[in-house]
Amino acid sequence: MSWRARNPRQAKDKQTIYNSREWRELREQKLRANPLCEVCQQKGIVTAAHQVHHIHPIEDSHSVQEMRKWAFMYENLQSLCDQCHADIHKAEGKGTKALAIERAKQRQDRWADGLISRFTASKGEGEGHESNPAGSF
Ligand SMILES: [Zn+2]
Ligand SMILES: [Zn+2]
Repeated sequence: MSWRARNPRQAKDKQTIYNSREWRELREQKLRANPLCEVCQQKGIVTAAHQVHHIHPIEDSHSVQEMRKWAFMYENLQSLCDQCHADIHKAEGKGTKALAIERAKQRQDRWADGLISRFTASKGEGEGHESNPAGSF
C-alpha cells in the first residue's frame, strides 16, 4: 500500500520538492510567521525554530501529486527547533504519527485545493529547471 516502499522514484520526487523554489519560499514564509519552535512554545519555552516539519509526512503519499499536496500545504507545516524535530521523527511509529495524520486530514480539504491551484497557476505544471532566485537570499 505504501508508495514509499516500492517506488524508488519517490526519493527523487521528494528531492525535487525540497530543491524547488516553491518549497524554499514557503519554508521561509513559515519561519517568518512562526520563528519560534511551536512545540517548545506549548511548554512555555522560547526556542528559535530552524526546521520546518511536515505534520503529515509527505513520504506517506501514493503519487507525486499527493506528495506535492502535503508538501505545499501551509497548515501541514510546523516550525520546530532541531531537538523537537529530532524527537518527533524518533516518536514516529509509536502512535504520535497516527494522531498527526488524523489532525492533518481534518485540515486537508479546506486548504489543499486553494494552495495547490495557487502554486500551479503561478508556475504551471512541471518543474523545468531552477533559475536563480535573484534577490532572494
Ligand atoms: Zn522545540
Ligand atoms: Zn520533519
